This record gives sequence, C-alpha cells and structure tokens, in this order.
Amino acid sequence: MPDLSGIGVCPGVAAGPLLRIAAAPALPAPAPVTDAGAEVERAFAALAEVVADLERRADRATEATVAEVLRAEALMADDEELRDAVRERIEEGADAPHAIDAAFGTFREMFTEAGGYLAERVADLDDLRDRAVAVLLGLPMPGVPQPGHPYVLVARDLAPADTADLDPAVVLALVTEVGGPTSHTAILARALGLPAVVACRGILDVPERTLVQVDGGTGEVTLGASSVFSAKGVDEPELSHPGRTDDGHPVKLLANVGSVKNVPAADQAHAEGIGLFRTELLFLDRTTEPSRDEQVVAYREVFQAMAGRRVVIRTLDAGADKPLPFLHQDGEPNPALGVRGLRVARQRPEVLTTQLAAIAEAAADSGADVWVMAPMVSTLAEATSFADAVHEAGLPRAGVMIEVPAAALRAADLLGVVDFLSIGTNDLSQYTFAADRMCGELAELLDFWQPALLQLIGICGEAGRATGKPVGVCGEAAADPALAPVLAGLGVSSLSMSPRALSGVRASLARYSYAECRRLAELAVAAPDAATARKIVLS
Ligand code: PEP
Ligand code: MG
Repeated sequence: MPDLSGIGVCPGVAAGPLLRIAAAPALPAPAPVTDAGAEVERAFAALAEVVADLERRADRATEATVAEVLRAEALMADDEELRDAVRERIEEGADAPHAIDAAFGTFREMFTEAGGYLAERVADLDDLRDRAVAVLLGLPMPGVPQPGHPYVLVARDLAPADTADLDPAVVLALVTEVGGPTSHTAILARALGLPAVVACRGILDVPERTLVQVDGGTGEVTLGASSVFSAKGVDEPELSHPGRTDDGHPVKLLANVGSVKNVPAADQAHAEGIGLFRTELLFLDRTTEPSRDEQVVAYREVFQAMAGRRVVIRTLDAGADKPLPFLHQDGEPNPALGVRGLRVARQRPEVLTTQLAAIAEAAADSGADVWVMAPMVSTLAEATSFADAVHEAGLPRAGVMIEVPAAALRAADLLGVVDFLSIGTNDLSQYTFAADRMCGELAELLDFWQPALLQLIGICGEAGRATGKPVGVCGEAAADPALAPVLAGLGVSSLSMSPRALSGVRASLARYSYAECRRLAELAVAAPDAATARKIVLS
C-alpha cells in the first residue's frame, strides 16, 4: 500500500492499529417547543454539564498545558453571550439542540472571519457544540476511543478536549488530516510527548484498525506496519546542561511563556531563561486597557521568578490573530496584513509607552536580565523608533522580532540599531509563503524545513555572527529537535520553545559538532524542497 505523508510535529516513531475519534452526534429533526422557558433551562443545563465535564478533565490532567487549554475551552462554553444567543434562538422557536447549533454557528462565523488565533479556536467551538448536543440527546460525549489496547489516534483535527483524556501509554501516536505546525494537535502532542503528524492528506480514507507506522520526525505514515511499538522521541536520558553542541558551541535553550503559571514547567525543563514572554496572552479577554499598575504586577511575577536569568519580554502583539478588545481596532479586509504588532503604536502610541514604563518598573530590582522586543517589525525606521522608546523608558536592551521577510533581508541594518533579533518562524513562514499560518490546506508551505525560510534565517544568523549580537528563534521551529543543529549552523544563538520540547532539543544539539551543524545548514538551504532538506539531515 502506498505511504502517506504530512508534517511531523513531534518526533518519535510508533506503530499500531489506527482508530478514529468518535463521530459527532447528528442533529435530529427540529421538534416543536411548547414551553420556551423549560427549553432554555434544558439547553443551559447541557452547556453547564459540558463546562463541568471539561473542568473535571482539567482537574485530572497531569500536564499543566493540557489543563490550561481545557479550562480555556470551559470558559468558552460558560459564556454569557453564548447563553443569550441560545435563549434568543429558543424564543424564536428553535428546540434546544438546534438553538445550540445555531448559536455556536454564529460564533463560528465570527471567529472564522477574524482569522488567526480565533480561527484556530473554531475546532474548539465545534467540539463544544457536539458535546452539548450529545448531552441533550442522551448520547455519550464524543471523545477518544477507549478500546483497552494501544492504538494510533486519527482525526480530521483535534480539539483540546479530545486530547485531554489521552493516556500516552495507550495512544501511541496522533495523525490528523488537517492542521499546521502551530495547530492545537501539534502543541498538545508536544506537551504529551506523542509522535504526531498533521496535514496528512488521505489518512481519513485508511480503514479502521489498519496497522500504521507513524514517524513524527519525517511526517511519514506507513500503512501495513508489522508490529505494535513505540519509540518516542522524548524518551531521552534527562539532560540538564546548558544548550551546546558536542564540541561546546553554546546555543541558549529558553522557554516560551504566557504568564508566571508557565515558569515552573520552564524550571523543570532546565530552561536557561525565557526567550519569549507573550504579554498579550494576559489581556486577550480584557475589554478595558490594563492599567500600568496591573501590568507591573503581571510582569514582575515573571521577572522575580526568573531572577538571575534572561527574560525576553515582547510588547503587545495585538491585531489579526490576537485581537485585544480594549484596543477597539476597526475591521480590516485583510487583518494579517493590517495594523498588528508594533504597527498598533502608529495609532495608539500611548499603549506602548505605558507598557514600556510598566516593564521598566517591574524589571527594576527584580534581579532578572530583562530584554524587550517588538513583534511585526518591517523597517529600519520602526526598529530605530522602538529601540529609542525602550531606552527612553530606562530599559537597556531592545530587540525586534523577525517575522516579515523585509526585516530578515535587512537583518544587518536592524542590528545596527537594536541589541538582538528574535526570529518568529510562525509568522515569518506565513509571510514568506503568503500562506495563512492556520490554514491546514497549505501546511506544506508552512513547513519549517522550507529552504527559503531557512535561507532567510541564515541571513539573520550571518548578521548576528558579523556583529556579535544575539539572534534567536522563538517560533515553533525552535521546538523541532532535528532542526536544532541546522538553526545553530545558520548562526542562531538561542532557541526558545515550549518547556516540554527542551530536553529533545538539548539532546539533539549535543549530538553534533558546530562544524557539522554548519555543514547541515548549508545542505538544508541548498535542498530543493522541505522534504529533501529534512531527509538529508535525518539520514
Ligand atoms: C512567531 O510568529 O513565530 C511567534 C513566536 O509569535 P506568535 O506565534 O506569538 O505570533
Ligand atoms: Mg508572531
């Protein structure tokens, strides 16, 4: 039988029988409603049951990331506006299952239109609707199969609630038909340490119980495997040394965090510091601008927890995929190319000034080595004015993210005015390939092994080598152990990732000399396509 392939998002190899996620309940024919009040109560009770179930799962989850994602999903189901929408539909004559379906449908449209982060939450909305409808119909909530033996879980895409109950001893690997390297499936697979392949076209056509072998490094799915086994990429001896190649070339290994809650995981994984503190995650649900004092508290918690170490804090990355309601940004026809990241400061300079003042106050006496960077920088002028603003706030180290090809091409100029660069490969690949980062259909364009993307990273790395200034990677590419030697060879001096990925990347880097890293980098950039680049390095 022919092999299938997709994008490997969590390394390791496993084989077992393929089982699909349970199907969503079908909506019954509409029923007449005689008592609208009672019907509203029935609908609300179903939503409450879904919330309670998600919270129970969150309590049971052993991984902090999983618990957090589940709680976020529970919050979505426990939403006043959602309940209002359900009530309205019932008052218009719909029965509870149809009212729930229609209400979620409205939110689905809004999220899809918003694009980015929100569009990726559409899978969560669909999952919540299916769960609530299943409760109303007296059916078991859709979820992962529980066959009592190890298997490879296959789905179109996975919602966090699907993955919460996954027992890594029973689920050998994950394969999804859609989803990109930054999808929930990818993030959660890394959190659970499960080999995973996303954007694997054709996997849904493979008959149930076929034995498949999944390689989460290469993205290959082989049909007709002969045995059931698991060789997870994370089964490495626990290493804790600072990031370096075999011959001692240092590559700092840092963690990505959204708040102080993620710091214990970073510590456990022996992170040398924080390479990306996404401040907007603290304010995603705010309708009013957080005060300077509130910001000081949130930032200081992280800085103090990281005393003695580096913390790279990013100023608000609002707009498009991360809309911040308090900014009241106008609708844009193409928001990913609109006023987002640092560009917001054109319209609302005081938001940046306040944030920088809050960061400076929080950094003072915290003991942390605080570096500040801006997202979505495109030109030297933007980098210059940002660096000036950072220094005026009394903060010593200013940097910019490289997420736009124009900035990568001019990395040397940018390093003339800032102290460091941090490459956001999630956005850099989106803008280099003109491919929406959340679009599963285009996932192969968003593959971090694309030689054109690596070439742009190499331009930044060269600029770093020439100036002696740090150039890091903080996008999801940094979490791929096989890519780590390539990035080091391209001149990248730090890798920042979700804490769970640190041990695999640490072990991988330590297997190569720096000369080998440089050779692999050259070969990968010269490769004709992503698959060949990956094969060359893995062979
Ligand atoms: C990136 O774009 O790679 C990045 C790290 O930023 P975010 O994912 O928050 O846009
Ligand atoms: Mg980004």
